[in-house]
Amino acid sequence: MTSVSRGATLFGAEDLRLVEHPLGPLAPGMVRIRLGAGGICGSDMHYFQHGRNGAFQVTAPLVLGHELAGEVAEIADAASVLHVGGRVAINPSRWCGTCAYCMQGRENLCVNIYFMGSASRTPHMQGGFSEYFDVTPEQCVRVADDVPFAAAALAEPLAVALHAVASAGEMHDRDVAIFGGGPIGLLIMQAARLAGASSVTVVDIASKPLTIAAALGADRVIDMATDPEALRSIQLEGGLDAVFEASGATGGLSGALATVRRGGTLVQVGNLPAGEVPVAFNTIMAREITVRGAFRFGKEYYRAVELIASKQVDVLRMVTAQLPLSQAPQALRLALDRSQSVKVVLTGPG
Ligand code: ZN
Repeated sequence: MTSVSRGATLFGAEDLRLVEHPLGPLAPGMVRIRLGAGGICGSDMHYFQHGRNGAFQVTAPLVLGHELAGEVAEIADAASVLHVGGRVAINPSRWCGTCAYCMQGRENLCVNIYFMGSASRTPHMQGGFSEYFDVTPEQCVRVADDVPFAAAALAEPLAVALHAVASAGEMHDRDVAIFGGGPIGLLIMQAARLAGASSVTVVDIASKPLTIAAALGADRVIDMATDPEALRSIQLEGGLDAVFEASGATGGLSGALATVRRGGTLVQVGNLPAGEVPVAFNTIMAREITVRGAFRFGKEYYRAVELIASKQVDVLRMVTAQLPLSQAPQALRLALDRSQSVKVVLTGPG
């Protein structure tokens, strides 16, 4: 039995260190996971770059990571459906199941939620960029041994995308645009397609994600750095039914809002800077636009794992690099370079 685990621990902006910590005995009812793969998310990058993510400030050492898959290393309760050595995708959220939001099926809004790798609460909730970490059996979703760890780990961002698409309402026969061709945007594109959208357009200011969007089946990609007129003409023709803001940039939001058809829907899923953002809000009134927020996910997580295991969604095509956990600081820096990276994945000992 291993007695120590090394975890990628953030002490402040740009200060990420591999820190060894002792592994205590596994608590009753818990499952110990050996990390197989961990996807680096935009929020991990925000924490790394600024020591904060939106309004969430890192005030104590925080192990990053919430896009996770691994192998069961130890089970405290022998009655579990899990078995040691089995491969699992890890749902990073542990909701209470009893608060008013959970009772309404809006588990992502749970007032008691424990979300791995987040500084939204103090003490912070430690993440899974660690050789070993402990979760509840409910957080573990079994996958077949032929599902790569990296694919299983990306069930988390796919769940975010599924939740965002569900927030937009009926997708069938809708024309859709996605601002931001990062991992979430690329997964929204695939999720919207699965939900019956008739066309998907992906807009970005970097060419790398647009190349991947085209390869994954986008009907149209628009590079705002070289061809802003293409977007302008869509707007002049009346806009599109549903627009997803997945860039987290103020400019992305302005462009997204201007691209929604009269009576259409805008879904904000990107993580905009904290505080006020200047936006032509009157457009929402004058064109009767419905604006929805989409935050994390609830039970969509389980469907995301199924869609990946059954290869209905391709999550590996957007993986631009895989580095061992020991190189986490380099991996974070690589992930921040949008000219090279879309999704960077850390690999563990699992
Ligand atoms: Zn709850």
